[in-house]
Amino acid sequence: RAKHEGRNRFCFFSDDLEKQLLQRHKIELMLREALSREQLEVFYQPKIDLNTGKLCGAEALVRLRNHDGGLVSPIDFIPLAEETGLVVELGAQVLRQACREHKQWREHGITIPISVNIAAAQFAEEEIVESILRILKNMAISPEYLELEVTESALMQDFTKTEQILGALANAGVSIAIDDFGTGYSSLAYLKKFNVDVLKIDQSFVRDMLSNGSDLDIVKTIISLARNMNLKLVAEGIETQEQESILKQLGCGIGQGYWYSKPLPADSFLKFALSTATFA
Ligand code: C2E
Ligand code: MG
Ligand code: MG
Ligand code: MG
Repeated sequence: RAKHEGRNRFCFFSDDLEKQLLQRHKIELMLREALSREQLEVFYQPKIDLNTGKLCGAEALVRLRNHDGGLVSPIDFIPLAEETGLVVELGAQVLRQACREHKQWREHGITIPISVNIAAAQFAEEEIVESILRILKNMAISPEYLELEVTESALMQDFTKTEQILGALANAGVSIAIDDFGTGYSSLAYLKKFNVDVLKIDQSFVRDMLSNGSDLDIVKTIISLARNMNLKLVAEGIETQEQESILKQLGCGIGQGYWYSKPLPADSFLKFALSTATFA
């Protein structure tokens, strides 16, 4: 009987693993198909100036639509895209689409910068700088409008190379934000050495800062660090007015989160932007 149970248990795990592999394979096929047809969708989440309440930026967030019309979360396909190298083409397509959208905004008088996430694997790519600048040129968008969001771990891969890449991008006028700041292996030296412009306080600290003193301490520390180093600050994951007012009080300049808006499809974002531009 015990033996029987053991076998069942074994089967259960093996089924589970098989399901996972199948799911992974399905997502990979979907992603390849979306890339080959250029059918990835890009949503935009507003960034708000905490002092004026006005829209001051937008983050482009990729979405993959499955065959039932539902959306697959980037959490479920970005890691896979990194492992398979597909993230290089994904990044290029997202950037092109974001530039296209930015042109629409400009035609409506909305001249905010656009932030695009860059994966670690893209940093390892040989011609990353050239390819980003080429896209900007082809899409007729000035580099000053582009901010790239990079995680700490992406920057820590290869110090010399990262320094070159960020230097070249900065020279061209592109801004660099450190995404999920505080969750990786932060080194104060690299903030100085690399041309970083913005720190994005990770949403886990924002979520817990009102209930957990050490998270609040981390938020305070990041804010004073940014001040001392003359970096802009964005707080991610603001969901309540209380979180907003604490962050504002502590001197954080920019906020992003469901409190203002979830990431929106391009047409809804434009409506949002036009309404805040008029009524803020
Ligand atoms: P991220 O760059 O840190 O983006 C912020 C994530 O937090 C987004 O999830 C956004 O929808 C979510 N978020 C925003 N406000 C709130 C809030 O108030 N509460 C909560 N709970 N969540 C909030 P999303 O869109 O699912 O993206 C997840 C991650 O996938 C991103 O984290 C980024 O690392 C990656 N990603 C998304 N788009 C791209 C892309 O085009 N390229 C690359 N390489 N990575 C991407
Ligand atoms: Mg980001
Ligand atoms: Mg983040
Ligand atoms: Mg993240």
